[in-house]
Amino acid sequence: MISESGLEELNFVLIPLLAASHIIPMVDMAKLLAQRGVTVTLVMTPLNAIRFTAGIDRAIGPGFLMRVLELQFPAKEAGLPEGCESADVLPALAFRRNFFAAIDMLQDEAENLLQEMKPKPSCIICDKHIAWTAETADKFQIPRIIFDGMSCFTQLCMHNLHIMKDQNEIPESGPFVIPDLPDRIEVTKAQLPGAFNPGTLCIQDIRDKIRAAETRAYGVVINTFEELEPRYVDEFRKLKDGRLWCIGPLSLCNNDNLDKSQRGNKASFDKEDRLKKWLDSWQPESVVYACLGSLGRITIEQFVELALGLEASGCPFILVIKAGEGQAPIEDWISENGFEQRTNGRGFLIRGWAPQLLILSHPAVGGFLTHCGWNSTLEGIAAGVPMITWPLFSDQFLNERFLVHVLKTGASVGSQGVMHLGEEEKPEVQVNKEEVTKAIEEVMEKEKEGNDRRKKAKELGQIAKKTLESDGSSHLSLTLLIKEIQEFQLNKSFPGITN
Ligand code: UDP
Repeated sequence: MISESGLEELNFVLIPLLAASHIIPMVDMAKLLAQRGVTVTLVMTPLNAIRFTAGIDRAIGPGFLMRVLELQFPAKEAGLPEGCESADVLPALAFRRNFFAAIDMLQDEAENLLQEMKPKPSCIICDKHIAWTAETADKFQIPRIIFDGMSCFTQLCMHNLHIMKDQNEIPESGPFVIPDLPDRIEVTKAQLPGAFNPGTLCIQDIRDKIRAAETRAYGVVINTFEELEPRYVDEFRKLKDGRLWCIGPLSLCNNDNLDKSQRGNKASFDKEDRLKKWLDSWQPESVVYACLGSLGRITIEQFVELALGLEASGCPFILVIKAGEGQAPIEDWISENGFEQRTNGRGFLIRGWAPQLLILSHPAVGGFLTHCGWNSTLEGIAAGVPMITWPLFSDQFLNERFLVHVLKTGASVGSQGVMHLGEEEKPEVQVNKEEVTKAIEEVMEKEKEGNDRRKKAKELGQIAKKTLESDGSSHLSLTLLIKEIQEFQLNKSFPGITN
C-alpha cells in the first residue's frame, strides 16, 4: 500500500566505490535515508555485500525499505585476482588501473538492473569515482548526486589548487599559501593529493575522466555538518549553485554497540569483551587510540617509530595493526623487540579490523592518533576527541591542516610529504619516535593548550550529535534533499546540467 506521503515510491539508488572507506559512509547514508521512509537500493558486489551484511540486515527492520542488489564483479576480465572486489584488498598498487577498468565494466549490468528496478529509480547517489554514472543518469533522466567523502574545506582547497595548477602556479618546492580561503592554509607540493603531486604510478587519465563526470553532476552530498565549517560550506555551496547537502556526521546513525562494533566489517575482532574491560580499567581521557585507516600501509621503519613513540609517551594505548600482505616484518619486529611484553597491560594491540566507533565513544579515550582520512577525522570530531595527526596520502594533509589550524583540536607529528600508495619506502617521509611522543604529550597534557584543545573538541562533539536530531542542520538538509527529489519525480522534469 502506498502511504499518503508517497515517499516509498521514491527510490534512491546508492552506488558506492568498492572500497571499505567509501562503502562505510554510503551504508550509513542508506540507513539515514531509509529511516525517512524512502526506498533505498544499495548497489554492490557479492563479496562486499557479505562484508557489510550484518550491519545492513540489522538496519532493514520493519517498515524500512532498504535492499542490496548485487552486480557480478569482473575481476578476472579486468586482470585482477579472483575474489579481489575492493580497493583495500588489492594485492599491489599496480592493480589500481585494473580495478578502475573493472569498475567501468559494471556499467551495462548496472543499467540493466536499473531498467528492471521497482519502484523506478528516482535519483542516483554515487561515489564520484564512478564516472559512468553520469551517462546512466542521462539515459534514465534522473538526477545524479555525487558523494566523494571529503569535507567542504578540502573541496574548496582542491578547487583553488586546480586553478593554481591550470596556471602553473604550484611551486615545486617550499611552502605556499592556498589562495582565496577563509583561513591561511600553508602546504607544500609534496603534501598535496595525487592530482597535484602524482606518484610514479600515475593515473591522470582516470582522474581526468572522473573530474569531467564530476562537473556534470546535479549536486553534491557531503559528510560534514554546517556548524563544523560554516565559511567553507558557504563558499563551496556558491560554487555548486546551492545544490549542496551537508548530511553528516554519517557515522552517528550507528547508535547501538553492535552497529558500532560491526561497522565496516564482519566481526573479525572477537575480543570485544576483553577490549571493553581493558578500556573500563583506565581513567577517563587517558588512553591514546592509534589507527591509520583501511588503505594505508606504513613501512616497518615507520611502524617502529610509531610503536616506540607510543611507548615513550607513558600513556595507555590501543594500536591497530592492519592485516594482510607485507605485515610480516612488523610482526617479526614486535616479537623480536619484545614490544608486546614490555607494554603488556598498558598497550592493547588489535590485529586486523578495529571496532573504531566503539573505541572512540569510550570515555577512557583521550586522544586519537589518526592518518586523517576524512571518515576517521569526522568520527574523531563526532566523538569529541582531540587528535594526533599523521597524514599519509590523498586529502589527508589537508584534513590535518583543518584539524590543526582551523579547528585547533589537533597536534601534528610533523609528517612532511605524501607517502604514495605503493611507494611507502621513500626516505624523506620518515617521522621519528620523538616527534610522535611530543605530539601525543601535547594532546594528552592537562595544561593550558592541551585543555583548550580538549575543550574545543568536546564542544564540537556535542554540536555534531545535535545535527542529526530532528531539528538539527544535517537532519534538515536530508529533508530538503528528499523533497527536491520528490519534486522532480512529481513534475517529471529532468534536472539535466548543461555545463
Ligand atoms: N576503520 C575501522 N577499523 C579499522 C580501520 C578503519 O572501523 O581498523 C574504519 C574507520 O572507522 C573509517 C574507515 O574505516 O570509517 C576509514 O576511512 P578513512 O576515510 O578514515 O580512511 P581510509 O581508510 O580511506 O584511508
